[in-house]
Amino acid sequence: MEEYSDVKELIIKAIKKNAFVYHFQPYVDAKSFEIVGAEILLRIDLNGKLIYPDVFIDFAENSGYIKEIEKIMFPKYIEYLKKLDISLSFNISGKSLSDEKHIKTLFREYENLPVIIELTEREIAGNIEYTKEIFSFFKQKGFKLSIDDFGTGYSSLTYLKDLPADFIKIDMSFIKNIENSTKDLAIVETIINFAHKFGLKTVVEGVETKTQVEILQKLNADCLQGYYFAKPMPFEELKDFLNKWRQRDSNP
Ligand code: C2E
Ligand code: CA
Ligand code: CA
Repeated sequence: MEEYSDVKELIIKAIKKNAFVYHFQPYVDAKSFEIVGAEILLRIDLNGKLIYPDVFIDFAENSGYIKEIEKIMFPKYIEYLKKLDISLSFNISGKSLSDEKHIKTLFREYENLPVIIELTEREIAGNIEYTKEIFSFFKQKGFKLSIDDFGTGYSSLTYLKDLPADFIKIDMSFIKNIENSTKDLAIVETIINFAHKFGLKTVVEGVETKTQVEILQKLNADCLQGYYFAKPMPFEELKDFLNKWRQRDSNP
C-alpha cells in the first residue's frame, strides 16, 4: 500500500492494469460435508502483493468505482462458473444494485446459469419496492439470491416475505461466540428456524471450529462456510481442493 498515496489511486491503477485477482471459498452441506458451492472474492495484485477488500471495498462502493470493477469481474466470474460443477456466488454492492441501468446492462447477456447473487441485508432493506423489482429481474434470469450478513441490518424481518430470496447467510459475528454465548446461540437458532419457515436455506459463514460445526448441525443449518473447511484460494487450488475433497470420506 505504501506506494499509493490513497485508495483512489490504488483502484484507478488496478482498473487500468487489470490487476484484479479472484479467490474462491467453498461452502459445504452441513450434514454430508459435500461441497455445494463457492464464493468468488476480490483481491488486487499489484507488484505481487495481494491487497484485500478491507483496504479498498468501502471506497470502491462509495465512490462508484465498484461498477467499473463489476464490469471487469462479472464476465470473468461467468468464465469460472462455466468451468465448475458447483454454484458460484457473486457479491453485488448496494451502490450497484440501486443503479438499475448498470444492473440490467451487467447481466443482460447471461441467463439460465447457476448464478447466485449475494446482497447484504442492509442494502436490500432500504428501498423495498425497487428491490422487489430487481429481484424479479434476477429471478427471470434464473439466478438465485442470497441475503448476506443477515442479522446485522437492524431491519424488520417482514420485508423477507415479499422477496423471492433463496438463501440467508448468517453473519459470522454471531458464530464467533456461539460456543459460550447463549444469546448468540439463540439468535442463530431463531434465524435458522425462521428461514426454514420461509422456505429459505441458511448458509452460516465464519465457521472455524469443530464445536461450531457440531452446534450448527444440531441447529439444522443447511450449509457451512469458513476457515474450518477452507480459506479463500486461487482457482487452480480450488479445482485441486474439489478433487481431493471428493476422494476422501465425509470428514473435513
Ligand atoms: P463477505 O461477503 O461477508 O465475505 C466473507 C469474508 O469473510 C471474506 O473476506 C472471507 O475471506 C472471510 N472469511 C471467510 N471465512 C472466514 C472465517 O472462518 N473466519 C474469518 N474471520 N473470516 C472468514 P474478504 O475476502 O476479505 O472479503 C471481505 C468483504 O469484502 C466481503 O465480505 C464482501 O463484503 C467484500 N467483497 C469481497 N469480494 C467482493 C466483490 O467481488 N464485490 C463486492 N461488492 N464486495 C466484495
Ligand atoms: Ca458474501
Ligand atoms: Ca457475509
